Amino acid sequence: MSAHIIDGKAHAAALRAELKIQAAALSAKGLQPGLAVVIVGDDPASRTYVRNKVRACEEAGVYSETHQLPADTPESGVLARVRELNSNPRIHGVLVQLPLPAHINEPRVLAEVLPQKDVDGFHVHSAGALFVGAPHFVPCTPAGIIYLLEKESISIAGRHAVVIGRSNIVGKPIALLLLQRDATITICHSRTTDLGVHTRSADILVAAVGRLNFVTADMVKPGACVIDVGTNRAPDGKLCGDVDYETVKSVAGSITPVPGGVGPMTVAMLVANTLRAADHRTQD
Ligand code: NAP
Repeated sequence: MSAHIIDGKAHAAALRAELKIQAAALSAKGLQPGLAVVIVGDDPASRTYVRNKVRACEEAGVYSETHQLPADTPESGVLARVRELNSNPRIHGVLVQLPLPAHINEPRVLAEVLPQKDVDGFHVHSAGALFVGAPHFVPCTPAGIIYLLEKESISIAGRHAVVIGRSNIVGKPIALLLLQRDATITICHSRTTDLGVHTRSADILVAAVGRLNFVTADMVKPGACVIDVGTNRAPDGKLCGDVDYETVKSVAGSITPVPGGVGPMTVAMLVANTLRAADHRTQD
């Protein structure tokens, strides 16, 4: 039997249509939501991500600005630009596209973003709020995964969720969000031994590794929900996830494809977070 395919593209389109209505309502009150994206250097993948984010904002009626800085911009220059955007009333969300060039201290730049404008959810304030179970801005990819699970009525409470990957932007936050929804959590990483023993007991398996075809059918419990976060390029240039999709889909109960699974949700959640940031402003 083949797994149910979780259509992230369709869910994201439906969410973006709802967000467009909310953005119009805020604009009618004289508060058009605004997002600024700071990108340093010209990494082609980053440029594509930023283009997609800006396009999604425009389609939803969110004002957006892209601040493209040269690769050799000193850290002080990036910090100064973030500070400018923090104090710009037209801008409700400030996002610094990662990765930054090696000479720039990433945590220092992320810490400069005003917590009220931290629509990427990468500031320690947002991370801490998530840790104590009172999320403020949730990072977009984990938020998108939870949205998909809830929309697809995949039960979380009491289930065993295994997350492969422990990054600050995907692995740790998705584990915390699943924990808050009463799943039992296992977090795996590059030093985990007997990975398959863990993954085979997962009712929900989240792969956030960044390695092509890393999760194979023999690592998946029959009927499990498999969420593929990975974005990798196959030798032929095709975009592929971390999961060996063709074989795993005959074992899993449900699965997100790449492309068209988690990726579109990440962008939609950024728009959602920008609207939340603007909406908070109305309550100031
Ligand atoms: P990351 O920071 O490189 O983290 C990768 C994680 O995988 C690390 O925790 C690493 O463990 C773990 N890992 C590496 N090799 C492993 C192994 N052999 N066994 C078990 N765990 C292993 O990456 P990330 O930023 O979380 O992103 C992960 C993937 O998701 C990437 O492909 C990225 O492009 C993609 N992504 C997609 C979206 C989207 O919207 N679709 C958004 C964000 C990221 P250690 O901690 O021990 O090194």
